[in-house]
Amino acid sequence: MTKFKTVTPKKIIMGKLSFGCDLLEELTKIATESGIRLGRIEAIGAVQKVRIGFYNQNKRKYQFHLFSQPMEIVKLAGNISTKDGKPFVHAHITLADKAGKSCGGHLAEGTTVFACEFILETFEGPEFNRYLDEETGLSLWSL
Ligand code: ZN
Repeated sequence: MTKFKTVTPKKIIMGKLSFGCDLLEELTKIATESGIRLGRIEAIGAVQKVRIGFYNQNKRKYQFHLFSQPMEIVKLAGNISTKDGKPFVHAHITLADKAGKSCGGHLAEGTTVFACEFILETFEGPEFNRYLDEETGLSLWSL
């Protein structure tokens, strides 16, 4: 069943990530240290290497791909909610290689930033807590 709730824009944070940091870990650190429990993230930039996941719906497991090459971040889009009471970043990323070919997927730890400019919008509203969804095997929002 489709479910949704209203959230209210609160503030917007803009910044750049440090060279060599782990993209997902750094975004999670910003959310944790800033006490952000609800929001959305977008970013552009470049990575030195990237690790992305594809959720195998039959096996109900993520399959990960590691591309150990420089790539452009064409677009990162994600959200911040909570899991086990802590801020949790869920992001997907589209990248392009030197030939302009794109790939993308679920952003995983193991992605190294070359340069990254991000915009993070925080919301006020009810908690969006993640729980194990039996239907998909994914950690989804309980609304
Ligand atoms: Zn995902």
